Amino acid sequence: MKFYIMFGPPGAGKGTHAAAIREKYNLRHLSTGELLREEIAASTTLGKQAKELIDKGSLVPDEVVEGMIRSQFEHTEGTNGFLLDGFPRTLRQAEDLDAMLADMGKEVSAVVSLMIPDELVFTRIKGRAAVEGRADDASDEVISNRIKTYHAQTEPLIDYYKAKGKYHEITADGETIEINRQRVLDLMEKLQ
Ligand code: AMP
Repeated sequence: MKFYIMFGPPGAGKGTHAAAIREKYNLRHLSTGELLREEIAASTTLGKQAKELIDKGSLVPDEVVEGMIRSQFEHTEGTNGFLLDGFPRTLRQAEDLDAMLADMGKEVSAVVSLMIPDELVFTRIKGRAAVEGRADDASDEVISNRIKTYHAQTEPLIDYYKAKGKYHEITADGETIEINRQRVLDLMEKLQ
């Protein structure tokens, strides 16, 4: 059972490229952002609490996303593994993920990191806002806060996974989605 982590700042293309990887390697794509947006759409208590934080560009509490991930790991039938997108996002989540997987006798297979400069984060998210209509894509202030949150809370994971020899990075600043997708698929192929 494989556990890949799609890593990178908001707008790097994690969700976009996950579809191609998922199909090619028969993995289940697990996006904590998508799962949270489903909770919001269903107006659950969790969704209502998460919405306030998401709309500000802040992270939801570690326990919340970890609970969602834990329950998804119970469904492994018919799949070669998982493609985690947007999780882990804090050191605590990374450590807890390691503990969760150790309990299952498993470990993180590799981190596939998509890097883009902060300026491109803005352009990409603005483009996506027009297509997907996400509330947290709409304002410059919220996008800035997400970039700040990424640098402060998520970027430290790079060293965490480098120390474990699991960190692999591509630059996802190519002109087209296809160019970047090929870079991600080439990296995935090397990891097999
Ligand atoms: P995403 O779709 O991955 O950009 O996530 C959208 C928003 O959901 C983020 O800005 C966070 O507010 C929240 N979120 C998603 N994944 C996590 C996570 N692993 N930890 C905390 N908050 C998360």
